[in-house]
Amino acid sequence: MQKGAIRVQTENIFPIIKKFLYSDHEIFIRELVSNAVDATQKLKTLASVGEFKGELGALEITVKLDKEKKTLTISDRGVGMTAEEVDKYINQVAFSGAEEFLTKYKGQGDGTNIIGHFGLGFYSSFMVSNEVEIITKSHKEGVAAVRWECDGSPEYTLEETTKEDRGTDIVMHINEESEEFLDEHRIQTILEKFCKFLPVPVKFGDKQINNTSPAWTKKPSELTTEDYQSFYKELYPFSEPPLFWIHLNVDYPFSLTGILYFPKINKSYEIQKDKISLYSNQVFVTDEVKDIVPEFLMLLHGVIDSPDIPLNVSRSYLQGDPNVKKISAYITRKVADKLDEIFRNDRPGFEEKWESIGLFAKYGMMTDDKFQEKGNKFLIMQDVDASKYYTLEEYKQEAAALQTNKDGNLVILYGTNPIQQDSYIQAAKNKGYKIVKMDTLVDAAFINTMESKWEKVSFTRVDADIADNLIDQNEKADSVLTQDQETKLKELFGHLPQLHVKVELKGLSAEAQPVIVTRPELMRRMKDMAAA
Ligand code: ADP
Ligand code: MG
Repeated sequence: MQKGAIRVQTENIFPIIKKFLYSDHEIFIRELVSNAVDATQKLKTLASVGEFKGELGALEITVKLDKEKKTLTISDRGVGMTAEEVDKYINQVAFSGAEEFLTKYKGQGDGTNIIGHFGLGFYSSFMVSNEVEIITKSHKEGVAAVRWECDGSPEYTLEETTKEDRGTDIVMHINEESEEFLDEHRIQTILEKFCKFLPVPVKFGDKQINNTSPAWTKKPSELTTEDYQSFYKELYPFSEPPLFWIHLNVDYPFSLTGILYFPKINKSYEIQKDKISLYSNQVFVTDEVKDIVPEFLMLLHGVIDSPDIPLNVSRSYLQGDPNVKKISAYITRKVADKLDEIFRNDRPGFEEKWESIGLFAKYGMMTDDKFQEKGNKFLIMQDVDASKYYTLEEYKQEAAALQTNKDGNLVILYGTNPIQQDSYIQAAKNKGYKIVKMDTLVDAAFINTMESKWEKVSFTRVDADIADNLIDQNEKADSVLTQDQETKLKELFGHLPQLHVKVELKGLSAEAQPVIVTRPELMRRMKDMAAA
């Protein structure tokens, strides 16, 4: 048997990294700015644990474009690198200095939110460059600045140089196919996309791109209603104010922060999906969160930030990832709890927002059993005449006496088109039945699903047939049933076998006392009458 280590031929691997590392070339900006952020955060950490004693000064990252030289330069005032460090972290592909730093300083100082961990990000610069230079001066005292240069072949040069300030400049000589990255507007757009909420100031020209402490990174107790609303405006400048929001904040068993906003939904066709952005340590990752957030929650807007969601991996992998599953369950629970809380603390407010919430709540109850369990308490159904809302429990209390069928099931009567069905509905209402409105997009499916999920509940639509045949609960027979009433009842049972009706009948007994009979009893009496 032979054992051995697989040898990688750099000549072969390099073009692969360059070409296929990321399908989206613009990502090199995210990678290089992230490295600059990491270098800055590392310096802050070293300062806070007393390993760096110098002046921190203004810690910012600058992005500069030189159209003549065709260069794009990203500079930071972070830790910098010594010649040995360049050799270790840059010349060794896939050796991550970020990982190493994290292992060493985990839980120490502040600012240990390091972004990198694959040790490949830097090389994405070669996707768009003929040549890349690193000019860097370490924060360590008495160490010379160095210049590293590479044209994308596995050969590099490394030499001493002069650099006044601590930190690193990455100079990319943009290649011909990538000239789009010499366009100011394009760079501005990319920076705004990926860097908008990075924790270290990023400047392009005179303008600072980012808000370094976005609301989701703060404690809920530090934030006012206005703070949440203005952050929403920052995310979606043209949207109406949100209805409410949920601040997510969990450390264990995974780490996740974020704010999810519930948008105002005026009309169901206005629903905008894909309005949740995924961040990792404040770096934008993607707008496509459908594998992380359950589908019914895709109507929410906002930001989730988790360093625990694996990036740069395939979708199918994401779906199977245990952290992703836990995150999805956590978000679902938080949303259900929030709805429950509003329902309990502010029922009028909840009812007012139901038009927006309802669609989403019903969808959630249909697709997620845990959500349904909680939803059973706060789901409300509006009376067809819009006078009030019932929870399932309240409906049961008010309607059970009249609307329980022979199997003991509660029958929820509903109207799908209250205007068209007005006369039937009025007729049924006048007879004392409780009818709810079920006229939104999801209702047909919701009814279907809930009939199988809710025990001992069935739904019946009020239409012409049913309305005519519903027994008037106010109607009191004076003496024995008239022929007419008898036919009516028979018809009713024919049409609506599941309805079990209680009717008050007078004069069936010698004492002529009003009695309440149940269906079997009524049937027996009717048979008796027929026999007599
Ligand atoms: P990762 O960030 O995943 O570790 P990269 O390929 O992006 O991998 O970077 C490799 C290493 O190079 C980093 O971990 C860091 O040690 C070093 N490095 C890259 N850019 C900088 C910089 N601007 N300042 C200091 N060190 C840097
Ligand atoms: Mg990196």
